[in-house]
Amino acid sequence: MKYNTKKYDYLIVGAGPYGAIFAYEAAKRGKRSLIIEKRAHVGGNMYTHKEVGINVHDYGAHIFHTDNKIVWDYINQFTEFNGYVNQVVANYKGELYNLPFNMNTFYQMWGVKTPEEAAAKIEKQKAAAGISGTAKNLEEQAISLIGTDIYSKLIKGYTEKQWGRKATELPAFIIRRLPVRYTFDNNYFNHRYQGVPVDGYTAIFDKMLDSDLIDLKINMDFLENKTTFVEEFPKIVYTGMIDAFFDYKYGELEYRSVRFERESFDSDNKQGNAVINYTDAKTPFTRVMEWRHFDQKAEAGKTILTKEYPQDWDRTKEAYYPVNDERNSSLFKTYREEADKVKKVIFGGRLGNYQYYDMDQVFGAALKAVEKEFGD
Ligand code: UDP
Repeated sequence: MKYNTKKYDYLIVGAGPYGAIFAYEAAKRGKRSLIIEKRAHVGGNMYTHKEVGINVHDYGAHIFHTDNKIVWDYINQFTEFNGYVNQVVANYKGELYNLPFNMNTFYQMWGVKTPEEAAAKIEKQKAAAGISGTAKNLEEQAISLIGTDIYSKLIKGYTEKQWGRKATELPAFIIRRLPVRYTFDNNYFNHRYQGVPVDGYTAIFDKMLDSDLIDLKINMDFLENKTTFVEEFPKIVYTGMIDAFFDYKYGELEYRSVRFERESFDSDNKQGNAVINYTDAKTPFTRVMEWRHFDQKAEAGKTILTKEYPQDWDRTKEAYYPVNDERNSSLFKTYREEADKVKKVIFGGRLGNYQYYDMDQVFGAALKAVEKEFGD
């Protein structure tokens, strides 16, 4: 079977943000792309669908946040944002705390009322735990930032079920994603720009791909016909798993997967917040999202909630989070060196680069690749 029937300039594997941005920018420059997508829809994990007037995020909560003005202006070409600011509540065995770690959390945990009191409490717990110097793992990093009480109630259980391994076996950088603040500020992110698209994320992709120079084939798996694709196309942008591209020849990179359970209710407000984290070890899910609270104009009397359950990954499941421990990072390096030799393929996106990327980072990386490719 011939695939490059229209003399496409690019084959783009994956219709997530990296692939869609590349196709859009290529089309702007008169280049023709064929995008093939394994799933039945565009948008990758950013995909949303509308139900009873509510934009439901099918692959978990996606809140766009960035400090990168170029990226913010770029995505704003395709959508308006609603000004949503993420403020997460943690439920630890029925006790409620504000996240990320801030003066509200410290007050709820210890009754302290000033930054000095909070800092003293944390210092004392850190010293008692014998933590000093550079943190070697997530546990040490967490205790050194916010002490043992918060670590044991809000981090340890959540982290170990989320990742399926001990906090002492996880890299410290994962916990540094969350702000620690000595102010009464519950904003989950430190970034200047933040929000959720008013019409959902899928509309952004529909706009990006709406071009005579872009063809899209969904339900098509690149790996089933890799050899033919590589032969026929002058250039390929590949956003699938890098180890899969090389037939796992050096071994399999590990991922963590999640699954979602969605439920609808006849109610205007079920849990009172967009995201509630369940931070104990026993509750099998990590968080529950109530989509209408992501600043939506939902129909009265209807609400939709999604529970997020972490699970082990194998090749039959969706790969969500790369496990950036030492073994995997070094294995990725080996694949990366191999990828450098394949000149006609650009590897991109979270799976192609094996990175725990936020959306804005994928946007930034795609725009860099565009700049490199087109030199403008
Ligand atoms: N985390 C935690 N308790 C929480 C929320 C997060 O211990 O209530 C830790 C956990 O290790 C998690 C990491 O912080 O993997 C990063 O959290 P974030 O919300 O950024 O994760 P994501 O939204 O990317 O899944």
